[in-house]
Order: sequence, then structure tokens, then C-alpha cells
Amino acid sequence: MQCNQEPMAKKFSRTRSLRELCALRQSFAVRVLPRVNRPVVAVLSMAICWAFIGLSQVSCYSQEVGAAKEASEEADPSIGYVPKSPRELQRTLTKMQYDVTQNAATEPAFKNRYWNNKRDGVYRCVVCSLPLFESETKFKSGTGWPSFFKPLGKKNVSTKTDYILFYPRTEVHCGRCKAHLGHVFDDGPQPTGKRYCMNSASLQFVAKPAGDEGQSDKTSGRTSGE
Ligand SMILES: [Zn+2]
Repeated sequence: MQCNQEPMAKKFSRTRSLRELCALRQSFAVRVLPRVNRPVVAVLSMAICWAFIGLSQVSCYSQEVGAAKEASEEADPSIGYVPKSPRELQRTLTKMQYDVTQNAATEPAFKNRYWNNKRDGVYRCVVCSLPLFESETKFKSGTGWPSFFKPLGKKNVSTKTDYILFYPRTEVHCGRCKAHLGHVFDDGPQPTGKRYCMNSASLQFVAKPAGDEGQSDKTSGRTSGE
């Protein structure tokens, strides 16, 4: 009980300090504030507010930069890549491959190279050969286009919104050469729930090097199950 009580001298001292502080504040309010021009006070208040807002924005920016740095830890495949000229692309690609990868065309459903390809292997970009998808993530979507539930790496593909059909769709590009690949939708299977609906014309399938599957379809000229 005794321990909770403040000594009288200390309590008196604290009360006195509070009284002095109140007196000082009143003196400031009475003597100083009336001399200060009100617009000046308004400007100073605004400046203090903007300073606080600026500091909070700097803080948000720092967090975004930190997040961006974390995301960029994975190597960007486009760094150091030298884009091929239109002439070179026209020389090395078929007309369909050129139209799909360079002009965002769409090849016919069920009448394309890989929609029903069931072999094990990797699907590379037909323009720059960057590995994009694995056969383990390919699934039967019933759409007539090769469909995957996730790309091989986070930065192997990039996306942007297009309005070609007058409603927003998420267009998918090669992460290195920016070739158009297809679109991604949110109606895919787990574990991602994504459906990467790709054009066969933008892909080059390379079979796993095991037994008769050791050669790419480019070498053999066909894929099974088509
Ligand atoms: Zn590419």
C-alpha cells in the first residue's frame, strides 16, 4: 500500500511542473500566436502535413522497391538477348509461326501441332528457344490448343492485358524475345488454377532424351497423338 503512494515532495514537484507547463502554453497562446499572421500558420500547417505525406510515400516506395528487388532475384532471361530482325524471322519461321508470334494471331483449334501431344519433354519458344513449359504441367483442356497449368519459370513468360475481343484477356509472351504465345485464364486445374492456352505455332517441342523419345519433334518432323 505504501509502495504505491508517491512521496509528497515528488508529487508536489510534478504538480508544480504541470502548472508551469500550462502557464507557458497559455503565455505562448496569448503573446506569440496573435502576432503570427494566420495565413502563415496555415502555410506552415500545410507544409507539415505535406512533409508527413511525403515521408509516408517514401516509406511505401521503399517497400515496393524491396519487393521488386526480391522478385528480380530470379534471372531475367531477356537480359543480353539480341532480337532477330523481321527479315530473319520471316526466313526462319513459317507464315503461321510468324503471324502468331509477331502479330498475335491465333491458330485453329484442333488443327495445330501440339494440342494432343502426349510425349514427355519441354516446350521451347519457337523464336528464341527459351524453355517455357514442361509436359508434366500439360493437361487436357478440351479447347483444342495445348494447355498448361504453369510455366517452367516465373520469368520465362510475361503477361499483359489485351482487348482484341473487346473484353480483357491476359496475353502471354515469351519472357526473353516477347513473342506472342497465347493467353492465360483462371479456369485451370490445381495446384495453380491457371490455364495457359498456347498456340502450337509459338512452341517447339523437345522430347526427353530417353530411348526412341530422344529426338525432338523438329528432327522427326511429327508428334505422337496428333
Ligand atoms: Zn522467345
